[in-house]
Amino acid sequence: MKTLFIFLIFLPSLFYANTKVTLQLNWLNQFQFAGYYIAKEKGFYSDVGIDVDIKEFNTDINLLDEINSNKAQFAVGRSSLLIEKINGKNIVALAAIFQNSPLMLLVRENSNIKRVEDLKNKKIMITTDAKMSASILAMLYSHGLNPNDYKVQKHSFNLEDLISGKTDAMGSYLSNEPIRLEDKNIKYNILHPKDSGFDFYSDILFTSSKFIDKNPKLTEDFYTASIKGWKYAFNNMAETADLIYKKYNTQNKSLIHLLKEGEVLKKLAFHEDGEIGCLDESKLKDIVNVFKVLGITNTDTNIDEFIYENNNHKRYRFEISYEESKIILLISVFVILIILVILYFLAKNKESRELLHTVINSTDDMVFYKDKNFKYLGCNESFQKFVNKEESEIIGKDDFNLFNVSIARMFRKQDIKILKDKEQKVYEDWVIYDDNEVLFQTKKIFFSYNKSSKNGILAISRDITALYKIQKKLKEQSYIDELTQVYNRKSYNRRIKESLDSFKRYKTKFCIAMFDIDDFKSINDTYGHDIGDKVLTEMTKEIQSYIRKTDFLFRVGGEEFVILFPNSVLDEAHIVCEKIRKKVSELKMIDNRVVTISIGVTQVKQTDTSKDIYERVDKLMYLSKHNGKNQSTIE
Ligand code: GH3
Ligand code: MG
Ligand code: MG
Repeated sequence: MKTLFIFLIFLPSLFYANTKVTLQLNWLNQFQFAGYYIAKEKGFYSDVGIDVDIKEFNTDINLLDEINSNKAQFAVGRSSLLIEKINGKNIVALAAIFQNSPLMLLVRENSNIKRVEDLKNKKIMITTDAKMSASILAMLYSHGLNPNDYKVQKHSFNLEDLISGKTDAMGSYLSNEPIRLEDKNIKYNILHPKDSGFDFYSDILFTSSKFIDKNPKLTEDFYTASIKGWKYAFNNMAETADLIYKKYNTQNKSLIHLLKEGEVLKKLAFHEDGEIGCLDESKLKDIVNVFKVLGITNTDTNIDEFIYENNNHKRYRFEISYEESKIILLISVFVILIILVILYFLAKNKESRELLHTVINSTDDMVFYKDKNFKYLGCNESFQKFVNKEESEIIGKDDFNLFNVSIARMFRKQDIKILKDKEQKVYEDWVIYDDNEVLFQTKKIFFSYNKSSKNGILAISRDITALYKIQKKLKEQSYIDELTQVYNRKSYNRRIKESLDSFKRYKTKFCIAMFDIDDFKSINDTYGHDIGDKVLTEMTKEIQSYIRKTDFLFRVGGEEFVILFPNSVLDEAHIVCEKIRKKVSELKMIDNRVVTISIGVTQVKQTDTSKDIYERVDKLMYLSKHNGKNQSTIE
């Protein structure tokens, strides 16, 4: 009976058991894998029903074998994965955690090796597998050093060999060996491939295409939770280092060492657009080219297939490149039409002219041609539809007969230039027609249309309003924070520069306020991350309604925000901030719990740079925290 009872209690958990997966690391536990430990320990994986076993590396392990044999479902590899892909392995890269590889050559300062060229005839310790050391080999090669110009030593992974002079340069990780040398007070120099233009990814999270096909949701959930873990790790460095120190410290590193390691890696992790994990097709192509130059491969691969379709950056790029491809299409249609129209003028007999006319009429683009006096010689049906006239009513007329004066003037100016310069140009003009604002992209070409060398203007025009709107929206989206839908840090960086410029030029004063939620960690810990997110979204919505339409609210960090008050002085900004502070404390976002914020407010000063003003407002905000939270401090 008792057994049955226990069985019944645990029965539900059998149905809801998490899916077990293994993540195979490519080295020993250290900050290099922080995001995964965080995602596991903070419950980001279990939130989506995944139970992850994180496995350290050992020399018996071949990462690809682990994936292919399904012993591990995910693994961390290097840019050399591209070679495996070229060699026919069906692997897919989900994310590149480090946008720049930490791999470099480390030299002692007293060795007098300052530049790559100084390595001539020196001893270099690197992994002998060329694809593993490709960025270093490429750096050497690009500075005129071929393999015969230096002596390669097998990597001992013993830093003492560099210190004692057994080797002159050692392939090392930015986040590791330099910190160990600092501990020993040994000065060093770094020769980083990136400074020679060889910019490799590192720590690529990957799996097999077979696995993705079978487990699309699991893969997406794992990817999303991992990226969330990485963001958290870099936004909470001390907490993360402490976790690794206490739970994942198989290498017995000091807490300070782990923290320093994290600081170095954080600089390598974020893409310029503020995202983590980005994989860029053109950068991967460049890496393949390096492998080719080094003779490691002579084949290309389908890079698009290599990048996971839900990779943040790929999704964004796809939308952009879709638009780009439309533009390319537009240009090629232009070229075809131009050829057709020229053929039309050259056509001797009526039949071929009619045929060409039919072709020209089949396009939605407007085709029209004018003589040297700007009078219409002809047009296609799209143009007739647009101006709402028959061709017979158009021929012999000019733009002043068809459009309003300002538009006609603009067209005339363009036409005069085409005839004068005898060349072609592309114009983009907003035209108001029938109360609609339409953006036209128009290609105008100078042409001679018969033997007596009569000149004219041939034009093809397309409505690109929709295209323009999509592009504008995509651009705007890159400045918006996904969770709260307020402006992001990238947007702040741009705005603050503009505000400082206009302050210096026109003396337009402005203020900024920074605020941070008090004890937000405990909100997350007590009520869970989802409630934490809800607080962020509800609070920002409320604050938006308290500021003027001309003010800007930015999310500059996890729960740190900045408000920019253009054309304001300190007292005004302070009053608004106090109102906001009070309002937030009255919002009932969570039952039985008051949420408060601490604020710093400052007005721009004569000599301010963007760094000065940010540091000042940050300090003021911390003063508010220091003095008991739920208050604002001004200067
Ligand atoms: P203090 O009063 O000193 O500000 O204490 P605090 O607990 O708020 O400390 P801190 O500002 O350092 O904490 C930031 C916390 O914000 C850490 C992290 O748990 C949380 N956080 C950051 N970004 C997000 C997010 O997007 N969603 C959620 N739910 N929490 C976040
Ligand atoms: Mg806080
Ligand atoms: Mg904070």
